[in-house]
Amino acid sequence: MTPPLMATYDRLDVAFTHGAGARLYSEDGRTFLDFAAGVAVNVLGHCHPHLVDSLCRQAEKLWHCSNLYRIREQERLAQRLVDTSFADAAFFCNSGAEAIECTIKLARKHQHAIGRPERYRMIVFEGAFHGRTLAAVAAGASAKHRDGFGPAMDGFDRVPFNDLAAAEAACGEATAGILVEPIQGEGGIHLAAPEFLRGLRALADKHGLVLCFDEVQCGFGRTGRLFAHEWADVKPDVMALAKGLGGGFPIGACVATASVAAALTPGSHGSTFGGNPLACAVANAVLDVIHDENFLARVRSLGALMHQRLARLPGLFPGVITDVRGLGLMLGLKCAPANRSVVECLFANGLLTVPAADNVVRLLPPLTIDVAEIEEAAGMIELTCAQLAEKAA
Ligand SMILES: *Cc1c(COP(=O)(O)O)cnc(C)c1O
Repeated sequence: MTPPLMATYDRLDVAFTHGAGARLYSEDGRTFLDFAAGVAVNVLGHCHPHLVDSLCRQAEKLWHCSNLYRIREQERLAQRLVDTSFADAAFFCNSGAEAIECTIKLARKHQHAIGRPERYRMIVFEGAFHGRTLAAVAAGASAKHRDGFGPAMDGFDRVPFNDLAAAEAACGEATAGILVEPIQGEGGIHLAAPEFLRGLRALADKHGLVLCFDEVQCGFGRTGRLFAHEWADVKPDVMALAKGLGGGFPIGACVATASVAAALTPGSHGSTFGGNPLACAVANAVLDVIHDENFLARVRSLGALMHQRLARLPGLFPGVITDVRGLGLMLGLKCAPANRSVVECLFANGLLTVPAADNVVRLLPPLTIDVAEIEEAAGMIELTCAQLAEKAA
């Protein structure tokens, strides 16, 4: 018998019935501390009262209407993203991959619109992940994500991450833009050096390229700034957002400067569901909370505390954890044993985490966690390390 779900995920055998804050409760009566947060999605934890309230209020008014009409919640969300970022305009969609599709299309269309239609290629990076559409897997680094899916979409030149000279060497007559994650998430929590991002900005300016940041995972307060690129004091021309944007309600966005956004005209791009009233009402509610500088300062200090708490692991358990890295509440533990076995052991001890490439375990808690929950998680991680170290001995 074929199971009714396609086997696209290697799932842990647990089903959750409900959640509150950083806790998830399973059908079989277990309680978990959620440091996966739906892969950096539940930025305000589970069932945050302001999000529940905003969703319910909107649900009683209007769920969906076409983008053939004005959508006030969408206009409001766009204005707030514009007010809080480098961008002048936003396009809304339903996922990270769609935000990336729009980003790539925009880079190409911009070059076309300014009379350089021969420029269609994007410089992309090793270790990158941009989603699962045909364009996104072509832009991403993983061969596994492309294998068997037919000829890869043309137009991507991949170079090593954090290697400015390689990016410069890859610039050609057909280059339209550069697409980079300020922090690679799926790739294993690799931080772009600030000078690398600034160098890409200079390169883009020199050749008239569209600089695109994928902040689907690292954006929206995760690093203790609203957007991760703010740490490097550099501005892109286009940015893709999703995950944390809806706090658990599916929504994505592509935001851009006025000159690049101008390339999209009525009919040139679109989405049936993109930016619908329900999604935008929730995203506006997320912004109400995380937009606050005190909230972001708190993320920075909690992130620093957690990093400090975990920094001793490689010294205590060199056979289990070999490196701790990350920024804010986007942290990675580089493992000696297979990361999947570490994730499973943490799970058995009540802590949910996410594996990443490069044999890393990601810690992506809700941004609303408190010091006690960080201590609790750190205790579970130490217990797990001790158990794995004993097993290995
Ligand atoms: C998750 C992710 C995506 C893809 O988002 P989906 O919503 O799964 O399509 C794209 N880029 C980055 C950096 C991501 O982490």
